[in-house]
Amino acid sequence: MTRTRRQRKSTATRQGKRWPRVLTGLCLVALLGAFALHSSGYAGALFSGIKGRLEARISGNGPGYGHDIGRGSGPDSTTGNITGETGPGANPGDDEQGHPSFEEPYGEPEAPMDDDELARLSVNELGKVPIIMYHDVQDYEAEWVRSRSNFRNDLERFYDLGYSLVLLSDYLDGNINVPAGRAPLVLTFDDGTRGQFRMIESDEGLIPDPDCAVGILLEFSRTHPEFGHAATFFVNSGNPFGDPSEVEEKFKFLLENGMEIGNHTRSHENLAYASPEVVAREIGSLANEVRAICGYDTVSLALPYGGYPRSTENLLTGTWDGERYENKGILLVGAEPAPSPFSKKFNPLAVPRIRGSQEELDKWLGEFEKYPNGRFVSDGRSDTVTVSEGFEENLDPDRVGDRTVRAYALPASTGGGDTQSE
Ligand SMILES: [Zn+2]
Repeated sequence: MTRTRRQRKSTATRQGKRWPRVLTGLCLVALLGAFALHSSGYAGALFSGIKGRLEARISGNGPGYGHDIGRGSGPDSTTGNITGETGPGANPGDDEQGHPSFEEPYGEPEAPMDDDELARLSVNELGKVPIIMYHDVQDYEAEWVRSRSNFRNDLERFYDLGYSLVLLSDYLDGNINVPAGRAPLVLTFDDGTRGQFRMIESDEGLIPDPDCAVGILLEFSRTHPEFGHAATFFVNSGNPFGDPSEVEEKFKFLLENGMEIGNHTRSHENLAYASPEVVAREIGSLANEVRAICGYDTVSLALPYGGYPRSTENLLTGTWDGERYENKGILLVGAEPAPSPFSKKFNPLAVPRIRGSQEELDKWLGEFEKYPNGRFVSDGRSDTVTVSEGFEENLDPDRVGDRTVRAYALPASTGGGDTQSE
């Protein structure tokens, strides 16, 4: 049946991680700038080509995984509002907005594991987390469409590689609740297409079409319960999922079934040259609309076209029509695995994603297979942050919050603390 990923003690060094950060940062800024220029203005049919070119350029930046959109190298590193002290997400325990009802499927372990057990499982809660970006799921494959069979294959592949799903909001909060030894992975879907979520009549009333992404995901998790079915759907105003008469029902279904809704702006406007007022309108009016429909506060924003505003004003927090919104993370269109939510490299203003295409999945999942110590592997406890000795300094205390930090010694034969990377 399913393969269990064989956990290895590896002596792999932090290959690919030593490229000069300044150079990487400059490349990234230049590429994002090029992106903004190329994609400014809604260009209809030209748009997917522009996106594709840009995506390729961004994701082609650098020698492999390890270069990071980290603090100081994001698209707006000059604002200073990324210290973790003022931005949303600064307090990982803050759950005032409330999560959708979601039964925790895995109990806390009875007793803490000893060092040998943690080493055997390659636990590393400073490792990176893949956040996958899908658009449509249909019966064919195209640049921004994943075929149903490939989507099913992706889920099987994620599962076999040891991943379990977490909600994006839980990643942003540092609430990583997956079984010990498994790695968190986040699924996101942009644009609210019909291929993502359709309902059909059944004896029990409306149920998800088993051939839409939601239906496929729910079916897969029924047979792979430790994988879960958490997913975040970034929607726009008006006609999410293609059927205006079912919007409320669909939103509520997602929230009641361990999935969530994200903000993709009111009109899918490219915010690259938007004023702070337009940014507030685009984010706030969609946030207000979702709240009015189902009482849920969106807590994350995916930038349409990846277009990054010149000013970060009103991106994370703002007010529109008398109602306040708060985003704990701003999601980019590309182009690599995201930092651990406890890392000093975590930047709520620039959370990178991996495109859900064959090429990008092969690339990044392959990197983690080659360098397994680069990815986040859970200790199975959401109240403890576990890293190998010597890496505690890379934790951001504000992000760790009230959680207990556990540093464990690696057996001498693995070469000590040099075997894990962020
Ligand atoms: Zn979009």
